[in-house]
Amino acid sequence: MALVRPRTTADVAAALAIAHAHHVPVVVRGAGSGLAGAATAPPGSVVLSTARMARVLELDPVERLAVVQPGVVTADLRAAAAQAGLAYPPDPGSVAFSTIGGNVATDAGGMCCVKYGVTGDFVLGLEVVWADGTVSRTGRRTVKGVAGYDLTSLLVGSEGTLGVVTEVTLRLMPAPPPALTLVATFGTLTAAGEAVGALVGAGLDLSALEVMDRTTLAAVDDLTGMGLAGGAGPDRRTPAAMLLVQSDSPAAAEVLARAAALCTDAADLAVAQDPAEGEALMEARRQALPALERLGDWILDDVCVPRSRVVALLQRVEEVAATYGLVIGVFGHAGDGNMHPTIVHDRSDPASVAAQRAFDAITAAALDLGGTITGEHGVGRLKRSWLARELDPGTLAASRAVKAALDPRGILNPGAVL
Ligand SMILES: Cc1cc2nc3c(=O)[nH]c(=O)nc-3n(C[C@H](O)[C@H](O)[C@H](O)COP(=O)(O)OP(=O)(O)OC[C@H]3O[C@@H](n4cnc5c(N)ncnc54)[C@H](O)[C@@H]3O)c2cc1C
Repeated sequence: MALVRPRTTADVAAALAIAHAHHVPVVVRGAGSGLAGAATAPPGSVVLSTARMARVLELDPVERLAVVQPGVVTADLRAAAAQAGLAYPPDPGSVAFSTIGGNVATDAGGMCCVKYGVTGDFVLGLEVVWADGTVSRTGRRTVKGVAGYDLTSLLVGSEGTLGVVTEVTLRLMPAPPPALTLVATFGTLTAAGEAVGALVGAGLDLSALEVMDRTTLAAVDDLTGMGLAGGAGPDRRTPAAMLLVQSDSPAAAEVLARAAALCTDAADLAVAQDPAEGEALMEARRQALPALERLGDWILDDVCVPRSRVVALLQRVEEVAATYGLVIGVFGHAGDGNMHPTIVHDRSDPASVAAQRAFDAITAAALDLGGTITGEHGVGRLKRSWLARELDPGTLAASRAVKAALDPRGILNPGAVL
């Protein structure tokens, strides 16, 4: 195993040319926060870290775009855009430490997707180093542009298997007003799911629609001491589920009043009084995974179903938890139908084999409900064996042909995705 820490595109090109010549696998690494094992380098690989390529190269308020190196931390770009009165909406829960290169390579989502879309919706163009060390530019800086095949979109979400991204041109937008937040709690997870259906169906201008179940809420409270729901200590009465509903519309108060009226089965409803309070609630939501990690060993799923099937998915997760006698914390981007059931278990217990079965049952349920095996974390190594269950043989063959054309020696992140 070797580590390469390039500072420039020329450094990346030189490293890849050598690796290509000697058939050495290369695994690119941003912050290593990916949740599908895509940046986990197999023995004998060169790890290519983008940590030293972390500069915002350009921020153009007139063209509303930014040009950045891949190692820029997502939150740093968002802060730089905000200073110019602009916004870069993509906000994965890992926003404070994930990198733009990693976000592009996984097509990362986040809380904002319900209104603004995923990382790929903001990528205008890329500089890429192909497997043999050739440097290319894909895409554009203009508002429109359709010259040739859309290689930018091909590279977005390719998890380091088709090329190394060395520069990213990103679309920015005018900063929206600060969001207001509605908190709704429910006596059952299904009731929360039904409210999600009503909110999505009403077409309200929402900028986030997130869910946390009882297990997650209690874990977040234990981690943060926020007293999110039901107080503290063994006697607390944590609700079965909580929805965090945000709107950054200029008419947010009105939008949230309509949203509240649609949460007919809510046990409790409250509107955060100021944007800072709403942001604190969202920060609590970002702590969902770190909080659940403290409960024991865990396997995190990332399934996405049509939004009309969110209730069905939640019911299936509850059935799986009952069948295998496991604790499964559920949180996720409910407004996108993207859930992260997190199976808590004890790896040293032989009975924990049930955790893998539960994971498989949930992933299969998502496909069964017309969904996908991964909404935003990617295939990586974790779900490689699942890909053929989602893609048809023609699409798989075309994907292999693309990989063979761009990386004929198979040196880029072997063992991930395909
Ligand atoms: C607490 C927590 C919350 C999270 N929340 C979300 C969320 O809400 N939404 C979401 O989508 N994800 C989320 N994630 C997952 C993860 O943060 C994202 O997948 C993120 O995009 C990964 O960025 P990274 O810089 O850590 O990439 P890494 O993990 O280092 O790499 C991920 C993949 O990208 C490839 N890669 C990295 N840089 C490049 C490059 N320059 N060129 C080519 N390939 C490259 C790697 O080879 C690997 O295949 C979360 C993770 C954590 C730990």
